[in-house]
Amino acid sequence: MSTARLTINLDALVTNWRNLDALTTCETAAVVKANGYGLDAGRVGKALAKAGARNFFVAAAEEGGALRRALGPGPGISVFSGHMEGDAKLLKDFQLTPMLNSLDQMLRHFEALPGHPFGVQLDSGMNRLGMEPGEWAAVAEIALSQNPVLLMSHLACADEPEHAMNAQQLQVFREMTDGLEIPRSLAATGGMLLGKDYHFDLCRPGVGLYGGMPFKDAVPVVQLDLPVIQVRDLEPGETAGYGNAWTARRPSRIATVAAGYADGLHRAMGAGGIQVYAGETPCPVVGRVSMDMITVDVTDLAEVPDMLAILNERQTVDMLADAAGTIGYEILTSSGHRSARTYLG
Ligand SMILES: *Cc1c(COP(=O)(O)O)cnc(C)c1O
Repeated sequence: MSTARLTINLDALVTNWRNLDALTTCETAAVVKANGYGLDAGRVGKALAKAGARNFFVAAAEEGGALRRALGPGPGISVFSGHMEGDAKLLKDFQLTPMLNSLDQMLRHFEALPGHPFGVQLDSGMNRLGMEPGEWAAVAEIALSQNPVLLMSHLACADEPEHAMNAQQLQVFREMTDGLEIPRSLAATGGMLLGKDYHFDLCRPGVGLYGGMPFKDAVPVVQLDLPVIQVRDLEPGETAGYGNAWTARRPSRIATVAAGYADGLHRAMGAGGIQVYAGETPCPVVGRVSMDMITVDVTDLAEVPDMLAILNERQTVDMLADAAGTIGYEILTSSGHRSARTYLG
């Protein structure tokens, strides 16, 4: 075995979904875009459907088709990017619900798939997807006459609870939707933690399900174990890796471990003070991250194991993300393409 081993704990995923669900009195859906944040949308979706999730969200109709194959008929699958040119067949064949983002999408949908369920995405200030207040005011009557199943919007700053943008977007969303008696959704993981004003009828967590911030009480879902390829001894003054970026200050043992930036261990992590774990014992990653390998100072280990863990309950996706100057979402979606995978639960 010379590639990394990614272990995905579906029981932990379900625990996170249940714990997020318990924060609200509304329905809790699940966001499984980008192949379930890299963890396999089909497996993630099936585990959550079994636990009681009835609605799923993906980014693109193509992802929805793949998810429908895994889930079978029954659960709702909604598409954030709406009804794009050429999507009609996918939306119809796989019973996907587009979240329509513009007048153009609305006209396309009503013409291509009259009577096919849809929702409407409203822009409450993020300026990414959805109809702006003026546009919505102009077309709401037509849209409502076709019975949308959901009115939704998305928060730009929900991971910063004190940010004034949250209350501002809440107010805009309310002004656009109050009194319409259509189910509403505003909150993703961050919004769920802002309190019940943000919950409406349906919440759409993504990253929290997978063990990431801002859901600080999440249980870790992924473990990434890396095989040790070689171990060598260095004299003080010898260097390791590209650019001689690390110099031994004492007689040192260096383990070369099989994963690098091609496996989602961003090169920037090298300078960020990350560890790998031999069981409970942390060992510092030293020198530069290269494409397929990292080097680890294992001098203080009595014995070097066959595998060292870089993601586990002690070092989470968010800790790796901090070291690389990014966010847990990016670590999740970029890790594990080359790894052997095991699913627990
Ligand atoms: C990605 C996304 C979500 C899920 O967000 P998390 O922060 O991962 O919980 C919800 N809604 C929309 C529109 C999204 O793009």
